[in-house]
Amino acid sequence: MICRNIKRIRAEVRETALHCGRDPDAVRLVAVSKRMPVEAVAAACQCGQLLFGENYLQDAVGKIERVEQAQWHFIGHLQSNKAGTAAKLFQMIETVDRLKIAQALDRHAGRLNKKLEVLVQVNVGREPQKSGIAPEHAEALLREIQPLPNLKVRGLMTMPPYGHAPEASRLWFRTLKELADRFAAEALFADDNTSVELSMGMSGDFKVAIEEGATMIRIGTAIFGKRPV
Ligand SMILES: *Cc1c(COP(=O)(O)O)cnc(C)c1O
Repeated sequence: MICRNIKRIRAEVRETALHCGRDPDAVRLVAVSKRMPVEAVAAACQCGQLLFGENYLQDAVGKIERVEQAQWHFIGHLQSNKAGTAAKLFQMIETVDRLKIAQALDRHAGRLNKKLEVLVQVNVGREPQKSGIAPEHAEALLREIQPLPNLKVRGLMTMPPYGHAPEASRLWFRTLKELADRFAAEALFADDNTSVELSMGMSGDFKVAIEEGATMIRIGTAIFGKRPV
């Protein structure tokens, strides 16, 4: 079941990318395994899916320790006092949205002798209940994070306002892309010849996200089914 879903999504990613003139390999699939058991992660690995996203540290630790070949992105809200664990276990933190958490991650990454990849999370819809920095403050945050020696800022991430129709997300994805283009022109991302990452699009709207330039899509339900509550 999980394998079949992954294959279907890969085919859809490919078709969507080709259809809008993009390289299908320029879109990475992050399998969001939050609240799913380690067996589900193992099943996805068996199918060649080796990149996972987790929202809750507590829930992620056991899976990360048991599935050694996988890579992990943290995509949840991170508290400063958990920055050490996150810096140690994850290849990328997609949800940096304030200087304090960036500084904590940088400090821990330094201690671990690691260059930690991060994305800045932007609250494109300016929703009060959501994490992420407001678009108008993102540039200032990037300028503050840039000098931190142990972080590599690769791009931007967003969770747009929830819409029932995938098309409702398009404007928000476009907003993120425009911000990223502007920041890239100002050299605000880590500049070691890697392209700027745009993490956007989930089960319901990933095709629209790919059309608008996503380089990473975060898919949970469409791979693993409905999450247990
Ligand atoms: C849960 C979650 C996802 C995956 O959502 P689905 O709709 O299940 O694909 C993606 N990104 C973040 C930040 C999430 O919390």
